[in-house]
Amino acid sequence: MGLPKISIKKGREWQLLRGHPWLFSGAISQAPGKAEAGSLVDLVDLNGNFVARGYYNANCDIAVRVLTHDPDEVIDSQFFAQRIESAKALRRQSIDQVSTNVYRLINSEGDFLPGYIVDFYDDVLVVQSHTAGSDSLLSVFLTALESVMKPKEVVLRNEAAARKREGLLQEPARVIQGQVPDELLVKENNWQFLIDPLQGQKTGFFSDQRDKRLALSRYAAGLPADSIIANCFCYSSGFSVAMASVNHTLRTVNIDESQKALLLSQRNIQENKLDASKHSFVCADAFKWLEAEAANQHQFDVVILDPPAFAKTHKEKTNALKGYSRLNQLGIQCVKSGGLLMTCSCSGSVSMEEFQDSVRQAASREGRALQLLEVFQNSCDHPMLISAPETGYLKVLLCRVN
Ligand code: SAH
Repeated sequence: MGLPKISIKKGREWQLLRGHPWLFSGAISQAPGKAEAGSLVDLVDLNGNFVARGYYNANCDIAVRVLTHDPDEVIDSQFFAQRIESAKALRRQSIDQVSTNVYRLINSEGDFLPGYIVDFYDDVLVVQSHTAGSDSLLSVFLTALESVMKPKEVVLRNEAAARKREGLLQEPARVIQGQVPDELLVKENNWQFLIDPLQGQKTGFFSDQRDKRLALSRYAAGLPADSIIANCFCYSSGFSVAMASVNHTLRTVNIDESQKALLLSQRNIQENKLDASKHSFVCADAFKWLEAEAANQHQFDVVILDPPAFAKTHKEKTNALKGYSRLNQLGIQCVKSGGLLMTCSCSGSVSMEEFQDSVRQAASREGRALQLLEVFQNSCDHPMLISAPETGYLKVLLCRVN
C-alpha cells in the first residue's frame, strides 16, 4: 500500500521541481483525510504524477518538508545513513579536521535532512529535532547516525522554541548515549574552546562564525598595538580569542547579558594562554552598554555586533529591521575613525539587502562613511540550498568606519 497522497494546486509544483524543500499549506489542493502530524506523504500534481515524498504537518504553514524526489526511495535507516554519509564526506572535504574538531555535521534542509541539526564536538554529537516529521522518524535517524558516526556520546536537545510552531513540546536536554561530561574542550583552528553540551546556548557553540573569527584574526595581525575591541553579544568570546591569539597586545571588552557565557569566556581566555589582564567581561544589555559608551564618547578600534535573531518569523521583520538599524547606529558611534565594524544578523526572514539597508541607514544618520570590506554568509558546514534562500540565515558585514 502506498503512502497517503497530497495533491498540489495547479502551477504550485514548480518550486518543488526546482528543488525547494517546502510545500506551503496554501499550495495544497487536496490533503489526506486523516494524517497524523509528522506522517510520510507523497506529493502529486493534479494529474496524479509523483512530485516528491516528505513528511506532513497539517498545523503548520510549511505543511510538507521534502525528503526525496525519487519515487522508489524508501525512507528508512539506509536512506538516512546515505544522507549522513554524504554530509560527513562534505565536512571531511571542507574542514581541516586536524585543527578543528567542532563543526555542524548536519544542517537540516541544507543537508537534505529537514528538521535535523547535529553538531559534532569531537566524540560527542548534539542532536536537535525541530519538526513533527523529524520527531516521528527520530529513532530511525538515530540508528543511522550511530551506524555512520559511531559516536561515543550523544545528547538530544529538544528545547528549541521552534518546536512550538510544530505543536511539539520543548523538552529538557538529555543524554541518549554514553556518559557526557558537563564540559568539553574542543578546538577550532587550533584555538581552544570550552563547551557545555547539555546547558550551553543552542547546542553549546556557534560554529557558524568560524570563518568570520578566522577573517577577523587576519585583521588583528595588522591592528596597532594596544587596540581595543568591543565584542558585543560575545557568548564564549570566540572572536576575542581568535583576535588576541594573533596579536597579543590587543585588549578586549566582552559584553553579554548571560553571566554563564561570561564565565565561559573568561575560562576560554585562560585556556588559550592569553594575558587575562588585557580582557574584561561586562554583564549587561549590549544596547544599554553601547548607549553609555557612546554618551561618554568612548570609541574602540573594533566593534563586533553579533546579536541573537531579532526576527524568528516574517511577522517580526519590521521590528527586527528597526532593531538592526538602532544597534548598528550605536555600534558605529563607538568605532574610531578608521576602525572596523563587524555586524551580523542571524534572522532568517531578513535578507542580505534588508540588513545592508539597515546598516546604510545607521551610517547615514551618523554621517559616517562605511567601506564594505567583506561579506559573509553561513559557514561551509552550514550549507544553504540555492533553491531555497530561506536556508541561509546568517549575514555578516565587515566594514571600515571613517
Ligand atoms: N558571538 C558569539 C555568539 C553570539 S550568540 C560567538 O562567536 O560565539 C548571542 C549572544 O547574545 C548570547 O550569548 C546571548 O546571551 C547574548 N545576548 C542576547 N541578548 C543580549 C542583550 N540584549 N545584551 C547582551 N547580550 C545579549
